[in-house]
Amino acid sequence: MNILFHIIHLRGLYLILMLEVEKLVEKTEGTLRSIGEKVLEGKRLSFEEGVKLFYEADLSYVASLAEYINRKKNGMFAYFVVNAQINPTNICIYQCNFCSFGVTKSDPKAYEMKLEEILRKVEETYKMGGREVHIVGGIPPHWEYENYISIVKEIKKAFPEVIVKAWTAIEIHHMSKISGKSYEEVLLDLRNAGLDAIPGGGAEIFSERVRKIIAPYKAKAEEYLEIHRTAHKLGIPTNATMLYGHLETFEERIEHMERLRELQDETGGFQVFIPLAYWPEGNKLGGKRTSSVDDLKTIAISRIFLDNFDHIKAYWITLGEKVAQVALNMGADDIDGTIVEEKIVHSAGTKSALGHTKDKLIKLIRGAEKIPVERDTFYRPIAIYP
Ligand code: SF4
Repeated sequence: MNILFHIIHLRGLYLILMLEVEKLVEKTEGTLRSIGEKVLEGKRLSFEEGVKLFYEADLSYVASLAEYINRKKNGMFAYFVVNAQINPTNICIYQCNFCSFGVTKSDPKAYEMKLEEILRKVEETYKMGGREVHIVGGIPPHWEYENYISIVKEIKKAFPEVIVKAWTAIEIHHMSKISGKSYEEVLLDLRNAGLDAIPGGGAEIFSERVRKIIAPYKAKAEEYLEIHRTAHKLGIPTNATMLYGHLETFEERIEHMERLRELQDETGGFQVFIPLAYWPEGNKLGGKRTSSVDDLKTIAISRIFLDNFDHIKAYWITLGEKVAQVALNMGADDIDGTIVEEKIVHSAGTKSALGHTKDKLIKLIRGAEKIPVERDTFYRPIAIYP
């Protein structure tokens, strides 16, 4: 009875929002009104319309349109995952200017985990009910191709039930370079070792102008997209990200999303889009932290623009818990997971508390008046907490 009451109550909230958005669009004038009408009709926005939302729409307008789309796609459900992030090393040859995590081998902060340590972390995750490990790190000059393959293989051998989401397109590009193998051959080797999915990191911003400044040596946008295209063709699902809030323009944010939208039209292999707010501490690029309004607007506009993506993630590690919670009513339907340990964004200054318990995530989602759904890597529900 209690559950039924909640479902009726939340369904009521859903219908009220739908009517409110229709009224809001009716009251709006000019191009913003025609954009709103397109959203209500389920039509795709152009590049110019996406840019216009950044420059001219206020937060409440984009948030309402985004949540309208989100509730049509995901109802009142919001997702989380019980997982662990493992960053096996911070030694990295690329030394991107925006990065506060990667260091040279001689840096006193440099570390490298032994395989046993990685397996111990997977075991801890497994014992607390986690069935996903997310593995990304630096790119050490001395690692051989086999290092990347064997980490996946050994995890899968020891914990066959754990879903291994490992190595960004940047790491896969590097593996291809050091082995002389094609992207497809590398991905097949990883899949044979037990790889289940690929995370979305490394996209940063596709604009060549900005990429040359913030990450001059890492894989190019075309290479990132080609690796994801190849993974999708092999049936390996992937995520997509965008690092925003550094040097890019609004036009470059929409251009980035448009390239992802085109690839998604072609393959349908992206599971989720994750806007990642830039954190300026401890790196060469510096600058300022994005505002919460910018964070929320970027999430909302990505929900509106990426009509062929099922999920938009409010990554609580970069946004903080409170903004992530608010974002669940502004277009986002996922807050990622328990994480346990994360070094990359924490090196850049985020103060998000680590090691969220499942109960805390459930509470966070309930606080947004959404129904928490524990999911696996592929957005299959494991449990619903009405
Ligand atoms: S962003 Fe990634 S590739 Fe660039 S320096 Fe940091 S760890 Fe290395």
